[in-house]
Amino acid sequence: MFFDDLAEQLSIREQQGLKRYRSILDSPQSRYVDIDGNEYLSFGSNDYLGLSNHPVLVQSACQGARHYGVGAGASHLLYGHSAAHHELEKALAQFTGFSRTLLFSNGYMANIGVVTALVGRHDVVFADKLNHASLNDAAILSRARLIRYPHLDLTALEQHLKKTNARRKLVITDAVFSMDGDAAPIPNLAALCERYNAMLLLDDAHGFGVLGKEGRGILFTENSMPTHGCNVLHSPHIVYMATLGKAAGVSGAFVAASSEIIETLIQTAKSYIYTTAGPPLLSHVLLHSLTLIEHENWRREHLFRLVNRLKHELRKTSWRLLPSNTPIQPVFIGSTREVLRIGQELKAQKILVPAIRPPTVPINTARLRISLSALHQEADIIRLADTLRSLA
Ligand SMILES: *Cc1c(COP(=O)(O)O)cnc(C)c1O
Repeated sequence: MFFDDLAEQLSIREQQGLKRYRSILDSPQSRYVDIDGNEYLSFGSNDYLGLSNHPVLVQSACQGARHYGVGAGASHLLYGHSAAHHELEKALAQFTGFSRTLLFSNGYMANIGVVTALVGRHDVVFADKLNHASLNDAAILSRARLIRYPHLDLTALEQHLKKTNARRKLVITDAVFSMDGDAAPIPNLAALCERYNAMLLLDDAHGFGVLGKEGRGILFTENSMPTHGCNVLHSPHIVYMATLGKAAGVSGAFVAASSEIIETLIQTAKSYIYTTAGPPLLSHVLLHSLTLIEHENWRREHLFRLVNRLKHELRKTSWRLLPSNTPIQPVFIGSTREVLRIGQELKAQKILVPAIRPPTVPINTARLRISLSALHQEADIIRLADTLRSLA
């Protein structure tokens, strides 16, 4: 019974063009990747700054392994919290301007931990419809009432906030939307949360390292700065989360907030407490990664030149880019089958661009998700644009 059921579901998935396959990479994540003995120009990673294979970081990984070994061996609360973890938490607090931060094994677990620790049965969570799956799961697991508002629709959000008299209200949103590349209006969201006494959880997985002064994230972009009449950064209503496996090039995530929030997470976030601490060597590497993020401004400058170049190249074509000013540049296709066909044709020409299909995005909104990295060159963008033109 059970197996017949699974087989049936899998075959439906396949018929609908929704079956997923894993390509096996035999190289570091880089401008080119090796798959099955072929070399592909890749637009498929979230390694926006090109740090995941940086020689300084590879070296510091070896150094970290010699000093700390390869595994933490225990959870943070039971003698698994090393000096490297602790130092990284302090460096991240300094870098993001919050009083404290807390490391998690990854972004998925950070979101689960934060939401379940901050709200429960009698509370309400308000979530953007296009949020990352980990925020949706976190809200469900918390057992709070979940209200999903239309993408970026702050009028709708305000209506809901106004009508709710729960003691704890939590608004959760991607800061940069992972499959769209557009950004949430942070000052307006923060102002709403202050007005209705709600907390705001910002998931900046795609903004940290990429956006804002010295890559400090979405809270350090022009839009979020005090000149706009609202000192967003120091709002006690904000809980900031970012991941360390994307622009930072390694693995992990952190939450930055007031010390009451961080202490509450240490005491009660189960995905923090009941899991082995991440390898300390990775924290050691991340300290160096943070230095590169802060000091190597050329990576961001080059990256945004590439973003503009791609937009410019595709302007004259029938391909429609979704409105995004980040290195995530999705080409809207619509049909699942069509996106697969184009993805395969690009692959035949040795270019990798992930085809994003439901349920990752809503039905009939399949897209090619081009993601750019500081390792790309202008010639790569032109090659991609020319190839797309030939497929139009
Ligand atoms: C990637 C991502 C996560 C999950 O982070 P991991 O560290 O990869 O688990 C969470 N939220 C968003 C918006 C993401 O894009």
